[in-house]
Amino acid sequence: MNPQITALYELQHRDRQLITLERKLDAIPTRLKELDDDLAKLEAMLATERKKCDDTRAFERAQRAQLAEEEDLVRINKAKVSQVKTARELTATQRELDSTRRMITTRTEEIRKLQQGFEETEQRIAAMQTALDALRVSADAERTRLNELRSKVEVKIEKLRLSRTGLTSALDPELLGTYDRIRRRLGGLAFVPAARERCMACKMVIPHQIYVVLRKGDEIPNCESCGRLLYWGGHFPDDPETAKNEPAPKASPTPVRRALRPDE
Ligand SMILES: [Zn+2]
Repeated sequence: MNPQITALYELQHRDRQLITLERKLDAIPTRLKELDDDLAKLEAMLATERKKCDDTRAFERAQRAQLAEEEDLVRINKAKVSQVKTARELTATQRELDSTRRMITTRTEEIRKLQQGFEETEQRIAAMQTALDALRVSADAERTRLNELRSKVEVKIEKLRLSRTGLTSALDPELLGTYDRIRRRLGGLAFVPAARERCMACKMVIPHQIYVVLRKGDEIPNCESCGRLLYWGGHFPDDPETAKNEPAPKASPTPVRRALRPDE
C-alpha cells in the first residue's frame, strides 16, 4: 500500500481525536456559564421573595399603626359619650364609635392573615436558601471538576498537536495541502473510509472504477460527491470508523481483515 495512505490515515486519526478534544474544551465555558446562570437565577428568586416579604412587613407595620390610631379614636369617643350634651351629638358619637370598631375588626383580621402569610413566606424562603446552599456546594465541585478536565484536555491537545507535526512531515506537501483545505472547508473530516462502494462520509455511491483503485491502495482519489479524500476501509479493519460503518459478520470465522464480502 502507498505509505502516504497510512500516513494520511494516521493524521486523520489524530485530527479526529483533536476535534473531539477541542469540542470537549469548547463545551467547558458553556457549562461554567450555565452553573453561574443557575445560581444567579436562584439568587434572584430568593431576593425577590425577600423583597416581597419586607414589603409585606412594612405594610403590616402601617396596618398596626392604623389600628393603634383607631383604638385611640375608640377611647376618645367613649370618653366623649359621657360628655355629650344633646341626643344628636350622642347619636353622631355613637355612630363614629361603631364605624371605628368595625374598622378595627376588619384590620385585626387583615393583620392576622398577614401574619399567617409571613409564616408561609418564611418557610418558602428557608427552603430556597437551603436549595441555594446545596446548589453552591455542587456548583463549586462541578467547577473544580471542569477546571481539572480543562487542564487535562489542554495537555492532551498539546500532545496531539505535537505528534501531528511529526506526522505531517512524513506527508507529501501537496497532499497535505489538499487534506488541510478540505478539512477547513468541510469542518474536520477530510480523509474518509469507503465501504460497500460508498463514501462513508456523504454516503454516495463511488463509481466501480474508482472503488477498484481504492482497494488497490496505490492512489488517493477524491469522493466525486463531497470531495473528501478516500481510502478503502478494508485497509484499516481496526479503525473504529470503519467498524462503525461496516460491522463485521459475527458468524464468519474468517478474520475480517481477509474477508471478501460478495458486495465488494
Ligand atoms: Zn463523499
